[in-house]
Amino acid sequence: MLVEIGNVQIGGPKFTVIAGPCSIESEAQFLATAKGVKNSGAGILRGGIWKMRTSQKSFQGLGSEALGFIKQVKNQVGLPLISEVTDPRQIEELIPFVDAYQVGARNMHNYSLLKELGKQPKPVLLKRNFSAFIDEWLKSADYILSGGTAQVILCERGIRTFETATRNTLDLNAVVYVKKHSQLPVIVDPSHAVGMSDLVPQLCYASAAAGADGLIVEVHPKPSEALSDGAQALTLESFEKTMRQLEKVLAAFDRGLNKI
Ligand code: PEP
Ligand code: MN
Repeated sequence: MLVEIGNVQIGGPKFTVIAGPCSIESEAQFLATAKGVKNSGAGILRGGIWKMRTSQKSFQGLGSEALGFIKQVKNQVGLPLISEVTDPRQIEELIPFVDAYQVGARNMHNYSLLKELGKQPKPVLLKRNFSAFIDEWLKSADYILSGGTAQVILCERGIRTFETATRNTLDLNAVVYVKKHSQLPVIVDPSHAVGMSDLVPQLCYASAAAGADGLIVEVHPKPSEALSDGAQALTLESFEKTMRQLEKVLAAFDRGLNKI
């Protein structure tokens, strides 16, 4: 199954890298990240507008304020954008601004949100909840598909295991299993899986070798100043290096990057 975000096809022979900040924090931060990731070969931009934070005291995202400059950044950089919807009311508000919707891990079981997303034409990236069985994840995808759309991408982002040394445990079993048992494209989020920026590149390479259709990676121009998930964000420089290594891994499997 091919899913098209903007004019980038996910699920075909090419490998797609979605990259950008965890949260959109300002026009300057978003523009610098967008330009940097595009120059390094990312095909799609990510950026959170409404954030699902564990603590209510943590930065909750700029919300509608970000809509004042997102178009400007997108037009300047020319990459399609994916952003998370945390509430069905945001679907309509985001129509002019995003090319695909992200469902976060915490909302994988939010069936009313999934059903609403299935009724509209933009692609939906469905993250796996950190406690969900593969079967539950695929059944959540069915809720979206039952609305009529075929444009669904699955995203493995790490699950909770007994291990506490890393933020989560990347389940590459799930990637190879779902590639075999589902028609939907599968991508990997190594950033939320491991939670430490210096370990993200190796998981990018492993995901490519495992046959994933792409990655979604958090990148920030100054990770130490990030308002969310700074510990796992790659700098623009490390993202560039990672992309060059990634191309070599992909070449070993006769694949290349999906660039604009
Ligand atoms: C994110 O992508 O920034 C995010 C919140 O991810 P997850 O829903 O996987 O925790
Ligand atoms: Mn994040």
